[in-house]
Amino acid sequence: MAISFTLPTIQNWSCHNCGGCCRQHAIEVTEEERQRILSQDWTANDGTPTGDSLFERHAGPPWAKRYRLAHQADGACVFLNEQGLCRIHAKFGEAAKPLACRIYPYAFHPAGKQVTVSLRFSCPSVVVNRGRSMKQNADEIKQLARAVVPEGHERMPPPALSNRERVDWSDLLRINDAIDATMAPTDVPITIKLQRALFWLNLIEQSRFDKLSGARLTEFLDIIQQAADEDIQPMADGRWPMAEIPTSLGGVQFRLLTAQYARKDTAADLSSGWRGRWKLFRAATKFARGRGNVPALQPIFREVPFESLDQPFGLPTESEELWTRYFRVKVQGLHFCGPAYYGVPLVEGFQSLALIFPATLWIARWIAASQNRTQLTAEDVSQALTISDHHHGYSPIFGSFGFRRRVRTLVQMGEIPKLIQWYAQ
Ligand code: SF4
Repeated sequence: MAISFTLPTIQNWSCHNCGGCCRQHAIEVTEEERQRILSQDWTANDGTPTGDSLFERHAGPPWAKRYRLAHQADGACVFLNEQGLCRIHAKFGEAAKPLACRIYPYAFHPAGKQVTVSLRFSCPSVVVNRGRSMKQNADEIKQLARAVVPEGHERMPPPALSNRERVDWSDLLRINDAIDATMAPTDVPITIKLQRALFWLNLIEQSRFDKLSGARLTEFLDIIQQAADEDIQPMADGRWPMAEIPTSLGGVQFRLLTAQYARKDTAADLSSGWRGRWKLFRAATKFARGRGNVPALQPIFREVPFESLDQPFGLPTESEELWTRYFRVKVQGLHFCGPAYYGVPLVEGFQSLALIFPATLWIARWIAASQNRTQLTAEDVSQALTISDHHHGYSPIFGSFGFRRRVRTLVQMGEIPKLIQWYAQ
């Protein structure tokens, strides 16, 4: 099958064997992969469990059981060795690993006749843009795509544009290109680019598209993008407008949303049962109240007062490049709506994606405050993004009715632009 690709050429990546993904992800295996791993005859001499103990059953009825790779006591994959390397890879080569491990951190999404490629920023090498260019990786990407992209992908319908409007692939990609164009300039702060994109996407959400297509849509996009530039621009002295304070109701919704991003869902956490769920419920209550100390959701965090995270921590200038690259890779790769993001429409998907910015900066502040610092470093922001992007589009809770309603509430209250400005100061 010949597949034509859109590659995120602004991004570099090679694996640097940090073992991070093998500690974070629960890897589901197909029956074929399970049988292949069983036939590899792992013994105690290899440092692994044996036979069926290599797997955990995690879902499915008795006639269609689903399995994932078992994990060690600290949550790491059973095949991760002391040097942080995969034992299957070391003994039988890359191709012998489960497909989910081989694909990571790539993500493939249908885009009409093409397939777009995106990357997961839960991988530290993606975040720091370290490794070979996407052009150099193109052969490997094509090989992986052949294994995961289904036949007939070009017939898959485009994501909805909004809750009431659908357009065809060419118009949807036209609008997506316009979002990318808003996020591209390197001389405009990321906070302004996000607010401008949200501004004109709000107009898209209110428009009808039955007579707005092709060249007329391009003209309409030019007009609303210009309106956004004029509405959100620097003041006479060249500075950007000051941050407005989010409302207390907006603050509650935002903290609850951020708590979901700050969680750690390793295989060990997923199987922690009622005790784990009770701990999460208690943590959610504290996040809703927003008083006292923030409960440490992962070992990297220390309990610090909620109010200490609402002081200005600054935004390191180096982070501007990371944020521009992050949003452009996600937008170009359609990694924020449709099948890549719980089937949500494009406008809603971008509103959710924009919220990852203040949520990540809140987590970055928590990392800094846990080390008794009151200023963010670029490393804090990078580390926080590996935590938040781990969930984005992958943890089922983010596609739930409750989570989507929370995003909707923040949109209707006009809180997202305020949160973006507030946590960037
Ligand atoms: S997290 Fe990234 S760099 Fe680390 S082992 Fe996984 S793919 Fe490689």
